[in-house]
Order: sequence, then C-alpha cells, then structure tokens
Amino acid sequence: MLVAGYDGDRPSRDVADFTARCREHYPQMFGDIAEHGEMLGGVVTYHQADSRRRDFHKLDRLPAGLVAAGDAVASFNPVYGQGMTSATLHASCLSKYLRSGPKPHDGPAHAYFDQVRVVVDAAWQISTTADIELPHVDGPYPPGYKVTKWFGDLLFRASLTDPVLNARLGRVTTMLDHPAALSRPGTLFRALRLGLLGGSRR
Ligand SMILES: Cc1cc2nc3c(=O)[nH]c(=O)nc-3n(C[C@H](O)[C@H](O)[C@H](O)COP(=O)(O)OP(=O)(O)OC[C@H]3O[C@@H](n4cnc5c(N)ncnc54)[C@H](O)[C@@H]3O)c2cc1C
Repeated sequence: MLVAGYDGDRPSRDVADFTARCREHYPQMFGDIAEHGEMLGGVVTYHQADSRRRDFHKLDRLPAGLVAAGDAVASFNPVYGQGMTSATLHASCLSKYLRSGPKPHDGPAHAYFDQVRVVVDAAWQISTTADIELPHVDGPYPPGYKVTKWFGDLLFRASLTDPVLNARLGRVTTMLDHPAALSRPGTLFRALRLGLLGGSRR
C-alpha cells in the first residue's frame, strides 16, 4: 500500500504512522489490513522532489542511434500512477518508429521523439493540473488555468455519480484516451448539464 504526503507532511518509516495514515486516507478495509495484517518488510519511503520532462524533440542535434524512454524522458508525481503506462507507450512509439521503414544508421530519431512528445504532453497535463491545485503550490499557472480548473472540478463532481462521465474520465486518467477526449461536445455538454443542473444517474 502507498501513502503519500506533500510539503511538510512527510510519511515516515514508523509503522504506527503508516497504519494511522492507511486508516485516515483510505476506506476502513485498508486500515484494518495495515493494523492486523502481517508486515512482510519494513516501511520504505521515497521522496520525489519534482516532476521532470526532458524535451528531446526540441533538440536540433541528437546522437544517431540513441533514444531515451520512460522516466529518462519524463517522470511524474508517482501518486497518479502514470509512469509505467507512459514508459509502455514510449515502447509503442519506438516499435512504430522502427517498423516505419529503414532508418539511416547515422541519423537522429527525431520522428520517434515527436511521437513520444504526444504521450508526455498528455501525461504532463493530467499530472501537473492536479499538482498545481495543491494548497502549498502557488503557480506558475498555465494560460486558461481558471477555466480548465472550473470545468475540471465540474466534470469531476459530475463523474462521482454519473457512470458515463466516470468511465470517460477514467479512460483519460489511465491514459487509454488523450485528455483532449474530455473536450468533445458530448462530454462537455453532459458535464455542464449534470454539473450545473445537478441531474445525475447513479
Ligand atoms: C514510489 C513510487 C510509486 C510508483 N507507483 C506507480 C504506479 O502505481 N503506477 C505507475 O504506472 N507508475 C508508478 N511509478 C512510476 C514508475 O515506477 C516509473 O515511471 C517506471 O518504473 C519508469 O520505468 P523506467 O523503465 O523508465 O525506469 P526504471 O523502472 O527506474 O528502470 C530503470 C532501470 O535501469 C537501471 N539502471 C539505472 N542506472 C543504470 C546503469 N548505469 N546501468 C545499468 N542499469 C541501470 C535501474 O536499476 C532500473 O532497473 C511509481 C514510482 C515510485 C517511485
């Protein structure tokens, strides 16, 4: 099980602290497991100071025959569970790139990095939009942030009771769909109708 804290709130290696957080942060079952289950090892802590992306697609000069993938391209707040999906999608980009025809052995893999950029942008958008809302973060806020946040909150609230929106949001947060899918008219209007008028199906 994973517990997380931000800013000055640091989960420790102390088992009592871990158990208390499992109780506080999750449904009862998780607290029960942490309290009564057998610990297979000690509590391990991990500190991630930042989300980081390396924009290889912007480089004019690149070594030939060399690519980067996974966390070496972009690493995110682990709480959102995007890292392995991103790395897998980078592997798909590489597969597509390699299958797309013969490559000059002395040429940089610009086309590969152009595809990876789409994956990184999508994951980055989801992850940083959530992180920037944390109380101890004070920007910089991207252009249009207030509108995006307003709509995001509306969509999230509506998705708590509407199975259709819940499924669509879930497909984006698990990276099965691109975040742009949430701005399709059908989703926009459904979220507005349910979020503003309060109508929802269980
Ligand atoms: C606490 C935590 C929880 C996470 N939870 C999730 C989650 O729930 N879902 C999710 O999708 N992602 C999660 N992630 C992110 C995910 O683990 C990473 O995004 C993913 O493992 C990145 O894969 P990678 O292959 O790029 O790098 P890694 O998995 O880090 O693999 C790199 C490998 O290279 C090896 N290596 C390093 N240097 C050298 C060297 N010089 N020579 C040879 N080998 C070397 C390392 O030992 C390692 O085995 C989490 C991360 C953390 C820290």
